[in-house]
Amino acid sequence: MPFRSAITSQRSLLVTLVILLGSGFLLTSMLSYYASRASIRDNIINTELPLTSDTVYSEIQKDLVRPVLISSMMARDTFMRDWIVEGERNPDQMTRYLKEVMDHYGAYTSFFVSNSSLTYYQAKGVLKKIDAREPRDVWYYRVRDMAAPYEINVDPDMANKDSLTFFINYKVFDYDNRFIGATGVGLTVDAVIKLIDRYQQRYQRSVYFVDTFGRIVLTGAEGGPNGAVIGQSLNKLPSMSELHKQLPKPHSGTYEYRSEGHEHFLNVRFIPELNWYLFVDKREDTALTDIRQSLYLNLLICLMVTLVVVLLLHRLINRFKYKIETQATLDSLTGLPNRRGFDLLASKTLKDTQRETKPLTAMLLDLDHFKQLNDSHGHLAGDEVLAGFAEDLKSCLRQSDIICRWGGEEFIILLKGSDTRSAQRIAEKIRLLAEQHTYVFSGTPLQVTVSVGLAELQDDDTLPTLIARADRALYAAKQNGRNQVFTEETASA
Ligand code: GH3
Ligand code: MG
Ligand code: MG
Repeated sequence: MPFRSAITSQRSLLVTLVILLGSGFLLTSMLSYYASRASIRDNIINTELPLTSDTVYSEIQKDLVRPVLISSMMARDTFMRDWIVEGERNPDQMTRYLKEVMDHYGAYTSFFVSNSSLTYYQAKGVLKKIDAREPRDVWYYRVRDMAAPYEINVDPDMANKDSLTFFINYKVFDYDNRFIGATGVGLTVDAVIKLIDRYQQRYQRSVYFVDTFGRIVLTGAEGGPNGAVIGQSLNKLPSMSELHKQLPKPHSGTYEYRSEGHEHFLNVRFIPELNWYLFVDKREDTALTDIRQSLYLNLLICLMVTLVVVLLLHRLINRFKYKIETQATLDSLTGLPNRRGFDLLASKTLKDTQRETKPLTAMLLDLDHFKQLNDSHGHLAGDEVLAGFAEDLKSCLRQSDIICRWGGEEFIILLKGSDTRSAQRIAEKIRLLAEQHTYVFSGTPLQVTVSVGLAELQDDDTLPTLIARADRALYAAKQNGRNQVFTEETASA
């Protein structure tokens, strides 16, 4: 039972250690992971995304401010207004004017639409007549009816192979403030799209524009969120449903939402010149991959350290356990097995012998008048004799015999394969050796004799009955004057 409880306590010590080390390592790793994660998230929300949106915005402003000024100047131009008021007599004059504006200011296109003739003029000549039923001409009627002096609109430019163009549509008034047409310049959106693509690729974030109704109006070459295309409404995208709850209508600010199993950070900014919202979106995973990898590495190292520590401790404990166990079965004075050691060996030997029907004889030895020796020469002298006698004993026995310091100045030996007769010879040899041996302690010669009792194993014997019979023989030897070998037969004779 104590052995079993030692195993259990060793196991629980190791388990406690694993739990302590493991939870300690796990806690510190997780703490540092969450701290870095918080600072990265903070950095994304407060610095990275706003910076991207600032840059995209200033790029757009840079591209749009000049065209707006040019268009404003065209709308106020007296030549243009005079030419219209005077009945649009020479179209070449207008075409020349528009070409001059386009070339001089490096615009992509320039145009004028007359409200009286509904003619669309541009740098290359008269393009067409505006028609209220034509979807592509809807913009003109919108501009005509709007309150603001101008608008910025993105449309395909039909004068330039339908490439996507920012149009600045300015209202033109005569000197009596009557609406007489719309003029302005257009510039290609390519530069902005290229900018969006560059940002998306370099910084792994997605950049797109959304109008006030929540419709995607401009994206990079690969489209908007999850490949959504221009014209799609954000609210109708299933992947954006969680964002929709927070943001039913576009609104400037910072948002966090989940989409298709991924955490997203989003910065929304209103661009007044376009009346659009700029969306800059970053997926958390891409931002946190590095620190997540370092967390895994950290945990792996912690796991290995824990395993190594536990393994080393396990080996150390086992080594100590072995040492203690062997010490517990040995007698420290003689180096012979003690009773505990004897019990472990003897019961197995007895069973083997009974099964194999080989003889076995138990030999019980007791030093004579040992108390006297102790009394006259001291306890240490007694110890010296005990140790010396044990050496003598060993020298008379075979490796296979089981020998034990039974207690005090008594010894027991199980002679394997020996019947009473051969055991008697061995016992006699021991008795003689003890008798003839002069032990020396501190220069003092010491003599000792030994009495021996023998009992041969019987079929129905147990270890206690066998020892009891040997003890009886020993008692008889003592009674008979000591320094003698007695068998159970001679004892009972
Ligand atoms: P007998 O011949 O009847 O055996 O006489 P005895 O004196 O040997 O027997 P008794 O049992 O009266 O005394 C045994 C003595 O052995 C008493 C005890 O102090 C001594 N003894 C027991 N163990 C040790 C030991 O480890 N060292 C020493 N020095 N003496 C021991
Ligand atoms: Mg005794
Ligand atoms: Mg004695």
